[in-house]
Amino acid sequence: MSALTSAISSSSPRIGVVGAGPGGLSLARLLTEKGFADVTVIERAPHVGGKSSTYHHEGLGHEMGTCYVADGYKTCKKWMDAAGMKIHPLLAHKIYDLEGRLVPFDEFVKGGDGLRDSFRMGAQALRYAKAWDRFHAWDLRGCPDDFADDQGRPMREQAARPFGEWLAERGLESIARFVMRTMTIMGYGALDRVPTAYGLRWNVPSLFLSAVRKTVGEPIPGWQHLWTHLAGFLDVRLNTTISAVTRGGEGSDFLVESDQGSFVFDHLVLTGPLDEAARWFPFTAEERLAWGIGGEVQWREYVTTLVDAEGWFRDADTRSFAAHACDGPATDAGRILVARRTGDKSAAAAARSATRRDVYVCYQYGAPERSDAALLEILMKDLARDGAQKPKVLRQARWRYAPQLGSAAILAGGLGRMERQQGQQRLWVSGATASHEAVDNIVDYNERLVERMAAAFTGRDPGDAALIEAIAGRLRLRFGET
Ligand SMILES: Cc1cc2nc3c(=O)[nH]c(=O)nc-3n(C[C@H](O)[C@H](O)[C@H](O)COP(=O)(O)OP(=O)(O)OC[C@H]3O[C@@H](n4cnc5c(N)ncnc54)[C@H](O)[C@@H]3O)c2cc1C
Repeated sequence: MSALTSAISSSSPRIGVVGAGPGGLSLARLLTEKGFADVTVIERAPHVGGKSSTYHHEGLGHEMGTCYVADGYKTCKKWMDAAGMKIHPLLAHKIYDLEGRLVPFDEFVKGGDGLRDSFRMGAQALRYAKAWDRFHAWDLRGCPDDFADDQGRPMREQAARPFGEWLAERGLESIARFVMRTMTIMGYGALDRVPTAYGLRWNVPSLFLSAVRKTVGEPIPGWQHLWTHLAGFLDVRLNTTISAVTRGGEGSDFLVESDQGSFVFDHLVLTGPLDEAARWFPFTAEERLAWGIGGEVQWREYVTTLVDAEGWFRDADTRSFAAHACDGPATDAGRILVARRTGDKSAAAAARSATRRDVYVCYQYGAPERSDAALLEILMKDLARDGAQKPKVLRQARWRYAPQLGSAAILAGGLGRMERQQGQQRLWVSGATASHEAVDNIVDYNERLVERMAAAFTGRDPGDAALIEAIAGRLRLRFGET
């Protein structure tokens, strides 16, 4: 690189982002909002959105991927407002408890419908929020090894424990029932397996408050609309398949070769699965270790099936099945976890519902060895047991989902290692691998990442502890306002 090019690119770097899902597009948008305009997003698919995927059937949109939006999704809601989108509240949720009774979800969480049950749950929520706050302080600071939890124990150890065990030890039974719905049923793993770090990242106190306030909703006309809207203001190259990346020497650039030509970037951001990127990206041994490419990061599979049916539930927006989510072996069986009565919630959709069959999105865990047909067979049996008549499959989608470091890797400092790797040799990682598989986690994370990137563009070390501390102070989520 000539001296002149180097001077220009240090103030206005050329940034390449691989992947036009929520991770890549939100990061690109935040970078441009900060004044870094030279951002190119490369997407292999013919459309944007990644796992935000709204499928249209008979003129109505159905979320096959990202669905919910809650109070904490502040930045997304701001963008949705600007895109003229609305949020339709999902008010009624029912769940079959472990005794097989179909009860309202809030009653299930409280463990009863009396005043004492409400007080007990409230007290647990406050205790949970306090412990969460300490975890969040650790997470924001890049998960340093020498950090203690609210009880003076090494945070790393606590973050590695199964979330269910961590909750039980603290006597948080109501919260455990709540997170059975928000973690296990939402595809993030059974509570006897999923590390506490991911449980706490996702279950920010405001998610709990959103459920109590009944402000969880579905965006209309759909999540994918948001990303399409944002992409309209960005340089996004669709249908572009990367074949190879060549890295220059220290501080030099990335040459990205694709079937649509080559690109040169000063900084590169990867967002999709990194084990797949390893087919064309020359990761160093240190990067492979830090990003868990050798198998430390495990992906699971989550499956959505859109069906129409007669005679099934109309008394709630969602119906969940606790017995299919109560522990690891139960989830391994691939039974139905939840179904959502769907179809965009416009007035036109409501008017049509009298004459059309109801449409539901059904969720299951998948496994590579389980075929589409095997998954459907399990699902159809569950639908028949629950009274759905003449179900017809409209679409099935299988998602690589919820990349997570295992407990051993977290215990060995894996989360901190990822954070320290960010920006080294101008390579950045965003999306589900770096934070947690949910849009608000990814966007919150990107808001911090963009600050670290901006500092790196001025020559500062993005891993500098004082820098991370200052960003943590500015962008800290607080109980009730997250
Ligand atoms: C069924 C389901 C329900 C969900 N529900 C919710 C919810 O209610 N609320 C919530 O917040 N989140 C939800 N999520 C999670 C949310 O959708 C994801 O966390 C989010 O989409 C992850 O964004 P990402 O950018 O990391 O990855 P992705 O969404 O997977 O996007 C990655 C993009 O990168 C592209 N890509 C990958 N490799 C390459 C390459 N080599 N070259 C070019 N492009 C590439 C892919 O094509 C894709 O477009 C749900 C997801 C699913 C599947």
